[in-house]
Formats: sequence, C-alpha cells, structure tokens
Amino acid sequence: MAQAHVLGLPRIGAQRELKFAQEAFWRGDMDIMALQATGRSVRAANRAAQRATGLDWITVGDFHWYDQVLSTLALVGGLPERFGAKPQALTLNDYFTAARGNSQHSAMEMTKWFDTNYHYLVPEYSPQTRFGKGVDWLFEEVAEALIESANVKPVLLGPLSLLFLGKEKGGLEDRLALLSDLITQYVRVLSRLKAQEVTWVQIDEPIFALDLPERWREAFAPAYAELADVAPSLLLTTYFGDVSEHAALLASLPVAGVHLDGVRAPQQLAAFAACWPADKVLSAGVVDGRNVWRCDLARARAMLMPLAEQLGERLWVASSCSLMHCPVDLASEVGLEKEVRKWLAFAVQKLGEVALLRRSLDPGEFAAADVRAAFVADGTAQAERRTSPRIHNSVVQKRLAALTDADTHRASAYPVRAEAQRAWLKLPVLPTTTIGSFPQTPAIRSARADFKRRAMSHLDYLETMRAQIRLAIEKQEAYGLDVLTHGEAERNDMVEYFGDLLWGFVITEHGWVQSYGSRCVKPPVIYGDVYLPEPMTVTWSAYAQKLTDKPVKGMLTGPVTMLQWSFVRDDQPRELTALQIALALREEVAALEKAGVRVIQIDEPALREGLPLRANDWPAYLAWAVRAFRVCSSGVADDTQIHTHMCYSEFHDILPSIAALDADVISIETTRSAMELLGAFEAFEYPNEIGPGVYDNHSPRVPSQAEMERLIEAALARIPAERLWVNPDCGLKTRDWVQVDGALTNLVAAAKAVRVRLGQAATAQAA
Ligand code: GLN
Ligand code: ZN
Repeated sequence: MAQAHVLGLPRIGAQRELKFAQEAFWRGDMDIMALQATGRSVRAANRAAQRATGLDWITVGDFHWYDQVLSTLALVGGLPERFGAKPQALTLNDYFTAARGNSQHSAMEMTKWFDTNYHYLVPEYSPQTRFGKGVDWLFEEVAEALIESANVKPVLLGPLSLLFLGKEKGGLEDRLALLSDLITQYVRVLSRLKAQEVTWVQIDEPIFALDLPERWREAFAPAYAELADVAPSLLLTTYFGDVSEHAALLASLPVAGVHLDGVRAPQQLAAFAACWPADKVLSAGVVDGRNVWRCDLARARAMLMPLAEQLGERLWVASSCSLMHCPVDLASEVGLEKEVRKWLAFAVQKLGEVALLRRSLDPGEFAAADVRAAFVADGTAQAERRTSPRIHNSVVQKRLAALTDADTHRASAYPVRAEAQRAWLKLPVLPTTTIGSFPQTPAIRSARADFKRRAMSHLDYLETMRAQIRLAIEKQEAYGLDVLTHGEAERNDMVEYFGDLLWGFVITEHGWVQSYGSRCVKPPVIYGDVYLPEPMTVTWSAYAQKLTDKPVKGMLTGPVTMLQWSFVRDDQPRELTALQIALALREEVAALEKAGVRVIQIDEPALREGLPLRANDWPAYLAWAVRAFRVCSSGVADDTQIHTHMCYSEFHDILPSIAALDADVISIETTRSAMELLGAFEAFEYPNEIGPGVYDNHSPRVPSQAEMERLIEAALARIPAERLWVNPDCGLKTRDWVQVDGALTNLVAAAKAVRVRLGQAATAQAA
C-alpha cells in the first residue's frame, strides 16, 4: 500500500507562539530555557498533528529558530566567517546575530524563497569558507521524535541547493568549487542520522525548478553517489515547478525516491510514473502546500489511482511542498463566513487530506464509512464552490467580456498628456511629492483597532482619521511639497485594506504565514469574482483635496500586488483574477477623478516578484501584468496624472514592461544604490517622468539637504530636468514625525536649491 507524508509544517505555532517567544527573547524578556520550551512544544504539536491524522511518516527537522537555510548552514558549520562564531559551539545567540545583525555586524542578506513570500538568509561563500562540524540541533530533534515512534523522517536542505542559493563574496569565483568540502559534511550528517536508526531522509533540492545551469545539473550525480553510500534511504524532493526536463537524471540518481509537485505541474506525474525505475519510490504532491483551498479529493484520487496501479507501494502521497506557506489551522477561524470556510483547508486540514487520499487508494479502505463520508462531504463542498453566487458574479463576467483593447490605452500618448497635465498642475521643475503613507502613530493604530472591535463609534473614527488627514496636509504644506497625499492613516496594510472592502475577498483572523524570522503576514483570501460595491478611497482623498489648493494624489494598490500578496483562487487563471481586480480599480480611479482627485498613484511594488521561476514564462506573465495595470489606469482624461510606484532595485531586465505600464510618473527606490539604478533607465531611454528616491525611508536617519542635493544632481546627470521628480524611496509609515519633519524639510530645500542652480544654468545658456 502507498504511504502518506508531508514535506514540512509551519513552525510558527497555531497562535504564533514561536514569534512571540523569539521577540520576547530578543527583548530580554524571556530566558533561553523558556524559548527552548516553546520550540519543543511547537515541534511536539506538529508531530502530534501528523500522528493524529495517520500519516505514515512524521516529518522532523522542519523546525527552525529563524530560517531553514541558516539552520542548514549551522548544521554544516557554514555560517559566514565574518560573524566569528565557533561552528561547533554555535549558540542560539550567534545564530540570531547572523540573522538579525547587531552593532558590529550587519545581518545576512535576505531574499525571497523561490516565488513564495517567504524570505531566506542568503549564504555567503568566500575563499575562506570551510565547512565543518556544526550544531547538533537536528540530531536532538530527531532523538526527541524517536522517543515517540520509529517512523521519523528528517528533512534537510540538499547540498546543491544550499550552494546555489548563496552568493559568492570576497573574490570567490565559483561556489560550486566548495561542493566536495560540503559533501564531506553531508556525509557526516547522514551517517549520523543512520546511526540514529533513521531509515528515510527527505533531502530538498528545489533548484530543479529553476533554470538550472548545466554545470550544476552535472554536479548532482557524483555528489549523490557519495551520499548514497552512507545515507539512510534518500527521498529527493523537487517542488514549485515542472522538472520533467530532468526526468532521466532524476531517475538515474542514486537516491531511493523522488518527490514531484503535482499541483504546479500535474502533467509530470504520469510522465514520470510511466518510466519510473522499479526500485524507486515516487512521491506525488497532490495537496497544495502553497494555498488555502480544500483539496478536491475525487480529482486528486483520480490522478493517484493510475499511479498506484503502476507503482504499488512505491507510491507516496504527499503535499506539493512544505505546508509552511499556508496558515496553521482552520479551526481558529471561528468568525469566517460559513460558506467560504467550507472551501478552505489550512496546514492541519491538509495533513488529513493527505492521509485520507492514501487510504482511499486501497479498495477496502475506500469503502470504509468514514472515508466515504469524507469524500461525500468534500464533493458537496466542491460542487457548492463551483456554483455559489458568492463566487460567480454575472456583472463582473459581463464587464470582463466587454473589455476591449481600447480600454487598455490612454486617449493620447505621453507627450500630449504631459502637456495637458502641465497646463493645470503648474508644477515647478523637479516637483516634490511623497509615496503616500505618513507615520502610523500608536494613536492611529489604536483608533483603527478600537473601531474594528467596535469599541469606537463610526463617527469618532471618521473624526479621528480626518484629524490625521488635516495634520498630514498642514505638515506637507509647511514643508512646501508640491503634490500632497492624504497619508493613508486608515490603512493597516496596503492589500488588506482593499481586500476588506472588495467583494470576492475575505480577511481571516488568524491566517498567519511566516514571511521571515518572527515576521508573519496575513494574506487576504481571494475566493470569488472581484467586485467594487462602492468607492474605497474617495472619502479620504476627496476630503484631503478640499483642505488644500495643492493637488492631492489619490493612492491605490495595483492588481498585481494585490494578487501577489493574497491567497488567490485556484479555479481560474491568475491573470483573470488580476483583470477582475483591475476592473474594480478602474472604477475606483474613475470615482477619484470625478471627485476632483486628478493625480492618482497605483502602487505595484510586487510586480517584479511575480515573475515566474523560469525565464521562458516571463513574457506571458509580463504581458498580462502590464495589461491589468493599464486596465486600471487607462480610463482617465489626458490631464489626469497617473503615477505608479515600485520599491526594489533590479529593474534592468523588466524595463520595457515598466515603460509599457505607460504611467505618467514612476517613483522608485534609489537612495541606497546612490542612483546607480538610474543607469538602466537612462540606457533604456525611459520615456516618461521619473522620481528616483532621495530619502531612505527604511532608516531613522534624517538626511541632510546637501546629501539630497547631491542625489538630485546625480539623477539630473541621467534624466532630463523636465522629467525628474523629487521624492523619498517609499512610504513613511514606519517613521516618526520628528524624522519626517526633518527629512522632508531638507528634501524640499534640496529641490529648491537645485532649481535655483538649474535656473541659473538656463539663464547662462540663454545669455
Ligand atoms: N503607498 C504606499 C505607502 O506609501 C506604498 C508602499 C509600498 O510601496 N510598499 O506606504
Ligand atoms: Zn515602496
């Protein structure tokens, strides 16, 4: 009979216990014993949940104090040398220092884990890198689990992925050269697990889903040959994509089994099974580890049955990837709409689905009353989801069908629009503005929280928020900014705020997912056709506009960012959901315009992170992402000015798409790179207006006027003055007013000083 397992569980705890314990420990409010105890109880709960559902394997080694990549480095003595920690005697404090930095050391760099919203710590490999004996944490966790049962399956990030995901530093030319030294450590680790009487180890090599360079591909066979000699049976896992181009390699590697992602790439399951070696296990990931939807059991079973026939007991039923990317337990969601709740499954529920699917492959078990009942209940829930009026909105469908190409183009080209906008905006050269948010003070946060739990009346809330808007407008006028914003006091989060007001979205109460370290996010769930019942931002922006003669910029979150930072419905293509959001935002834009808010910013900070893992898939993604943005922004008059904003620094490869958004103005993050990034915009001859950030909003430091003048001058060397704006890198919600007062006063003064010099230059030229 087939076996059932998952690739890993969330480690934050059902009530985010680990987060609160870590933060208390960092503050000095909790001692290490108590922190360790929290870790033990999270691990025990995860094992208990796996046992309770009857999984055949209890996955361990998926618990990490901060990050799985950092933990693997700690295990093989590979932390960056610059921290000076002793690999074998590494303490939790040393580990946290590498993750978070301290007064002497900057933290390790963090980057996104494949195309998820989880961030891992990037290994640093230098010519000095020597792997060695590291911490014993994994062996201790295995021992802790073995006390309860023998069917313990440790999980380990594989050596090739560990190297590939790192960066070369200090003049190291090729990190692949470190492989043999690293393999020595994996040999040690795997031998020791074997000595603990572990029979299977899950070894993750997710880099198979990337565009894998040939040299790296070729390194697998020799490396795994060394491991196979000493290791327990190895299950090599791939996930997040199709790996069929590596089918022959995967079938020939000296491992006991391979795991495939059957959610992202269902077609590969049958293809692999058809010619799978008779001595190897194939693990089929059919329960989605990246999303919150209840598994369609009948459909999944239909996929598994032919595999079970071919593979018999060599079939393992699994989650597509680790469940760390979905929230912990649906049982906590007591307040959720009952109908929507029936369509969902969080990590704990998914364990049950995997176990149930495995049982359903056995004819006898499939006939068991509880299995039957579960399939019937699931069938009903799936059918309701297919037809529910809560999901399917005919107005949205009609609007989508009526969408034409003309809806994705502004009436005139940028030069004509710029002219029309200049005529009424009458902005000086180098106009100054901000990216939207102003300090979210404790008073603002508590007002929002009180209102949400109905401890503040609607009227008091309105007045409190209006007072904040008045404050923000007064301050911006005092600084002398040219284009103002209302300050976003009413928004807890740039996606959740809109998710709360749009139909088709639902906000969970406890649906937290780890983003990095102790940081968790609570993505909204997009379950149905997206519909705008009434304007979401007009009250605030129009109120702000009435307070001032300066233009106020409306502030929206774009469709791609909304998609990227939500759990997205899986019953239609993502691009269709993006278009639905875009249509709703298009109406919001029209409502703002009608209310006299005629400068409107549509933020797309997540545009780049939505890029697919494989370069081949980029063009299709970029095409629909750009189209969705243009659907939002193209319904306005020529003289309405559309801004967009992005905050990351790698633009060169997607510049044509950024230009294709055809926003009148784009603001970007450039301070830290000292305008380096502008080189790409210059080389590409970016056609519209651009506001490179001159104030690093991530730092409490107040930059001087002179510093910002230098940055503006640097930008002027690359972008003509008529198309250059002056603004911070991003929103200011995490700063305090003292910092913002100082920085924005200096920013305006810097812009004015450069204007004077430009004026003199112009006069000099004329003379
Ligand atoms: N308008 C948003 C703000 O100012 C933009 C945030 C972002 O780009 N992440 O907060
Ligand atoms: Zn930003």
